[in-house]
Amino acid sequence: MEKFNFKNIKRKAGKLFENRLQAARVLEVRYWEPSTLIEVDLHMPFADIAKWDEVPYIKFKVDDLTFRDYTPSGWDAETSTCTIYIDAAHKGAGSTWARQLETGDTVSYLKIGSTYHKPVATSAVVALGDESSMGHLLALQKMVLPNTRFSGGLVIDNEHHRRLFHEYFWSPLEPVARRDNFGHHSLMEWVLQQHYSIENTVFYLAGNNIMVTQLRKMLRQQGYPSGQIKVQGFWS
Ligand SMILES: Cc1cc2nc3c(=O)[nH]c(=O)nc-3n(C[C@H](O)[C@H](O)[C@H](O)COP(=O)(O)OP(=O)(O)OC[C@H]3O[C@@H](n4cnc5c(N)ncnc54)[C@H](O)[C@@H]3O)c2cc1C
Repeated sequence: MEKFNFKNIKRKAGKLFENRLQAARVLEVRYWEPSTLIEVDLHMPFADIAKWDEVPYIKFKVDDLTFRDYTPSGWDAETSTCTIYIDAAHKGAGSTWARQLETGDTVSYLKIGSTYHKPVATSAVVALGDESSMGHLLALQKMVLPNTRFSGGLVIDNEHHRRLFHEYFWSPLEPVARRDNFGHHSLMEWVLQQHYSIENTVFYLAGNNIMVTQLRKMLRQQGYPSGQIKVQGFWS
């Protein structure tokens, strides 16, 4: 009889996941100097990209039995390609994986899921996030409906990265300097300066969990109903 121990369970679990993995090819890797923000173009021949009508996420295998979610921002169903942005300024399995990616590599992912974020038909959509949700906010921008005013703030610590954001994208999203650890105070200050109306403004919050939870609380205190605040927490 096979010995029942933790190593065996791990091996079996690994096998179970391995059978479900799909492959994608790294087309290009670009580093935003200083290289803590990594932009990766992927070819995903097995993904049904034409069906992405809510902001998706891809669960990548970043190490043995270790998975992390990253968000495709721009995508093209015809060529089965997309781009992800990885905030790799900290130490972690995901950022280590991202830092060693090279053109031509094959990466594995377990699944593609939905965050259920999709801009609603309203006059103003406001997206708020941090470096890790840059892809998410850009994906929202791509989906926004005609006649909707799209705007938002993206808290970015590095001054050069804030400049690059303006240089690289045509986007009404505004890079906001980070003045607090998780970014919610900086973003709330920015929101108050915009004088958004309570009616018809729908907020989409994505990024680190503390920022998302605290921002939601602050917006509720300003009188925005909970139905007008959509949240997606990433990490804490
Ligand atoms: C639906 C979804 C979509 C996501 N999309 C993206 C995306 O497009 N881009 C992206 O970068 N991340 C994204 N994330 C977050 C990502 O999945 C990982 O949680 C994150 O990259 C941290 O993983 P790690 O292994 O590097 O660090 P971990 O090992 O999980 O954490 C190590 C330490 O670093 C801290 N930490 C983790 N992330 C950060 C960070 N960004 N900045 C500072 N400290 C951090 C943690 O608090 C912890 O103390 C998404 C998460 C979800 C749930």
